[in-house]
Amino acid sequence: MAAVTITREEVEQLVRRIVRERTRPSASALPTLLVEASARHAHLCRADMDTLFGEGSELTVFKDLYQPGNFAAKETLTLIGPRSRLISNLRILGPLRKESQVELAFTDAISLGFNDIPIRISGDTEGTPGCLLMGPKGVVELKQGLIRAAIHVHMNPAGAEYFGVKHKDVMRLRVGGAAGVTFDRVTVRMDPTVRLNVHMDTDEANACGLHYTKEIELMK
Ligand SMILES: [Zn+2]
Repeated sequence: MAAVTITREEVEQLVRRIVRERTRPSASALPTLLVEASARHAHLCRADMDTLFGEGSELTVFKDLYQPGNFAAKETLTLIGPRSRLISNLRILGPLRKESQVELAFTDAISLGFNDIPIRISGDTEGTPGCLLMGPKGVVELKQGLIRAAIHVHMNPAGAEYFGVKHKDVMRLRVGGAAGVTFDRVTVRMDPTVRLNVHMDTDEANACGLHYTKEIELMK
């Protein structure tokens, strides 16, 4: 009878494969992942809304966004940068927030005359540059609040359990296709009310050809 020899390495490989197959969650548990490009936009606080659009004015819904309760407003602003260069028709996203903030792509920042603006998670505006915002009823000088929004993934507890991650963890997003880009610093933003959703800016989306690829993978 011929002896069947199997090396230690082969045994280890086999064991690893079995463990991997046993621990992999079933395909049906994979939550739907929507990856979107966020065009430049502003968020406003109550006081700045009053100044820009009038006392007690409210944002009106132009288009509901994927995340429940969030919307693109009909209202827009003009943003004036440090060298009097401006961006008009800057869309406001609702609802109102505690602090005003403007999220730009790097290309927008350059066109305004900024050499750079910091990459931050939304809401973290300490020490960021400011600008002037002009609305139909007035002008607001933002002392700070101009950021490039860090690429991030909105996730609820079920999604976090599926991927084995927690709030503020950093994940990777592979976008296949002709451009083929992997983003290495996708920050997890946990919230029980959200749907699984990656947000990148328009520069990032253009660089990876987001609109032309079906091949997308979110990885720990
Ligand atoms: Zn987002």
